[in-house]
Amino acid sequence: MHDLEQRLEQLTAGEGLALIADLFPGKVVFSTSLGQEDQVITQLIASQNLPIQIFSLDTGRLFPETLELLARTESKYKTRIKVYYPETTSVEKLVADIGINGFYESVENRKSCCFVRKVEPLKRALARNKVWVTGLRAEQSANRSAMKRIEWDEANQILKYNPLLDWGFDEMLAYIQEHKIPYNPLHDKGFISIGCAPCTRAILPGEDARAGRWWWEESKKECGLHAK
Ligand code: SF4
Repeated sequence: MHDLEQRLEQLTAGEGLALIADLFPGKVVFSTSLGQEDQVITQLIASQNLPIQIFSLDTGRLFPETLELLARTESKYKTRIKVYYPETTSVEKLVADIGINGFYESVENRKSCCFVRKVEPLKRALARNKVWVTGLRAEQSANRSAMKRIEWDEANQILKYNPLLDWGFDEMLAYIQEHKIPYNPLHDKGFISIGCAPCTRAILPGEDARAGRWWWEESKKECGLHAK
C-alpha cells in the first residue's frame, strides 16, 4: 500500500484514477453526492471513459436541486449514475420509531436515520468491490486532515482512494469553471457541503465548510460514511 501511495503522489487526480481502474479492473466504484468535489471526479472519469461505476445514495430527503443536478450530469456526460435507495421496511420502521423529523431530537436518532438512509445502502453499493473512490479533501474538516491518498477502510473492508486529497477549495472551483462542470445552484446561495435538505443549511462567510451540516449538534459533522 505504501508503494501505491508513493506512485499516486506522483500523478494527477485523473492519472491516479486511470491507474486505479487499471490495477483493479471492474472492482472500482465512485460514490457521488453531487457535491463540487464529486462533480470534478465524475468529469475526470467520464472524460477518460474509465471503467469506474459511479453511484449515488438517494436518501429520500435530498434537495430537488440535487436530483436535478444528477439528471443534468448524466445528460452532459452521457453516463448513467447508479442510484441506491434505503430499504423500504427499514425506513418505515425508522419513521414509526422516531417520527418523520426525529433526527433533530437526539444524536442517537440522527445516527439511526443516517444509518438507514445512507450507511446501509452504501454497504450494499460497496459490496464485492475492491476500491471506493471518494471526493474527500484534507482541508474540509479537522478529522479529515489525517487522511491518506489511499487507505484501508476498516468499517467497509475496502480500499478508499481520495484523488482530490491535496486540492484546495479555490483550485477546485477554478477546475469546475475551466471545464464547465455542472454544479448545484445551492452553492451560489451559501451552501458549501450539501447533504439532506432538513440537515443542511447555508453558512456565513468565514464559517467552517461543514458548519452547515447538522448545525444543531456539536459532533464531528460526519454521517458515518467516512467514519474511521
Ligand atoms: S442527513 Fe439527516 S435526513 Fe439525511 S440521513 Fe442523516 S439524519 Fe437522515
